[in-house]
Amino acid sequence: MSVDLHCHSTASDGRCPPAAVAARAVERGLTALALTDHDTFGGLAEAAAVPGIRFVPGVELSTEHRGRGLHLLAYFPAMDRWGAEMAPRLDERLAGRRERLLKMAAALARLGVTLDVDAVAASHGAITRAHVARQLVAQGAAGSMQEVFERWLGDGRPAFVPSDRWPTEEAIGFVRDQGGLTSLAHPGVDDVGGPELATLARAGLQGVEVWHPSHPRQTRRRLRRAARELKLVMTGGSDWHGGPGSDLLGPTIGDGLAPEIGQAFLGALDAL
Ligand code: AMP
Ligand code: MN
Ligand code: MN
Ligand code: MN
Repeated sequence: MSVDLHCHSTASDGRCPPAAVAARAVERGLTALALTDHDTFGGLAEAAAVPGIRFVPGVELSTEHRGRGLHLLAYFPAMDRWGAEMAPRLDERLAGRRERLLKMAAALARLGVTLDVDAVAASHGAITRAHVARQLVAQGAAGSMQEVFERWLGDGRPAFVPSDRWPTEEAIGFVRDQGGLTSLAHPGVDDVGGPELATLARAGLQGVEVWHPSHPRQTRRRLRRAARELKLVMTGGSDWHGGPGSDLLGPTIGDGLAPEIGQAFLGALDAL
């Protein structure tokens, strides 16, 4: 049993088409894969059609809690089992992301940086800061995506425009009402401590992402403990965006957490 419950495709800011991501998961010998593009279900049908693996429909929602951005993973038991109200709510957000692209381009222009907006807008699905960063690198405006985020697009940097974010607790309730399960993505990256996690658990959060490439061992240990205390399902994944130098998870995940995570997670999903 090994699972990867967090990754991206070209439906948002990943570099591989959804079917290629699922095919890669089969190649890696994974038992189950969840595709969790930013704020869209757009890639799910294509990925789900790839045989040889249990496919879990998912999405990574951009939410806001106490003035801060938090990413919330939402999972559903099967392709025909997410609430009818979920997709239109996400579509509204896609339009917001396109408007935000224009605002980012205007902010960049004020800084003397010309972004080829059409090249970015040609991409289908959820347009993210990663798309803008990649385009600026392609245009030669910066040497790396990291540089783009440091100079212009990172939180609080001069061309930063916040995305239209769902209040976290509202999103948790909404997904739950639609028959899904939520897990807080990379709490270690966003500095979410025990008390805030407890607050979200009281609001109905069912899971927490324990394993993430940016979580060092001590963070995983802290989150495992918190998950036990708060009775949260543990999740984990590669957060792979299809780039070179990283990959989907495989049968050896590093600390042997995968079987534990996978079985309990799929059990919780099937019990919804
Ligand atoms: P957005 O949801 O549009 O604000 O875009 C956020 C996305 O940008 C994240 O999901 C990452 O894929 C990417 N991102 C954020 N910060 C960085 C960074 N410092 N370097 C590279 N990519 C980043
Ligand atoms: Mn991303
Ligand atoms: Mn994230
Ligand atoms: Mn992600």
